[in-house]
Parts: sequence; C-alpha cells; structure tokens
Amino acid sequence: MAAPSAPARLNDMQTRIRDLLAGADKPLSAYDVIDALRGQGRLAPPTVYRALQKLIDEGLAHRLETRNAYVACHTACGDGPVHAHRAGFMICRACGRAEEFSDAEVEVLLARTAARQNFAFERVAIEIQGLCADCAAIA
Ligand SMILES: [Zn+2]
Ligand SMILES: [Zn+2]
Repeated sequence: MAAPSAPARLNDMQTRIRDLLAGADKPLSAYDVIDALRGQGRLAPPTVYRALQKLIDEGLAHRLETRNAYVACHTACGDGPVHAHRAGFMICRACGRAEEFSDAEVEVLLARTAARQNFAFERVAIEIQGLCADCAAIA
C-alpha cells in the first residue's frame, strides 16, 4: 500500500465512524461504534476495525491503549493534510473523557531514556489516569 500524501480519502463507513468519534464526548470501543451504526446497513466487526485503523493511519483518530477505545484526533482538521504526531491522553476515571495533549519535551525525554538503554524507540503511548478539572471540582 502506498502512503497517502494527499488529504485522506475516506469511504462512507470511515466517514461515518470519524463523525461518530468526533461527536462523542468520550472514547468509544469498537463495539460502541458497531452499536451506534447498527441499522445503517450490514456491519461486520472486521470492517469496523479496518475503518478505525484507516482513521488512525490517516492521523484522524487515536487508539487508547489502556481502554481499548478510540477517539477523534483533536488536532486533525477534517480532511486537512495528513499529520502524524504522538499524542498523549489524560483520561478521567470519573466521567471517562479523554483529553489529548502533545508535548515534544516528553517525547524527547522518553526517546533519550530509550536510547540510553540501547532500546530502538518506535512508538510510545502516554495515558495519564486521573480526574479532569470538572470532576476534580465536584470530588
Ligand atoms: Zn491527535
Ligand atoms: Zn471527568
């Protein structure tokens, strides 16, 4: 497969899932996605997984490793140019919201730590668990 350099071309299914993720107030599992799209035609889980992977490959969504769930990328602007970045997330244990952040300093630090151990750095998932500002205010 050739790497896409033009704006992402999404099929119907991918567009629907992107819109679904973008409109959700918390991360969605693949089964949440399947449930939400039920009634809009045949939906096989592998199709949904492929569509989610496509969105991730295009920089339009991220997968939360600790939740096995998906969120729309907040820095991607619709059908804008494909961008790749390593995102971190702050995941609220009370309301389930996941706030995306990207911090170059953290990445440099982790890459340096890996290099010190002669570890070939490929990818990193930063997920901070805790309470969002709203939930912390109530708690
Ligand atoms: Zn992102
Ligand atoms: Zn919260």
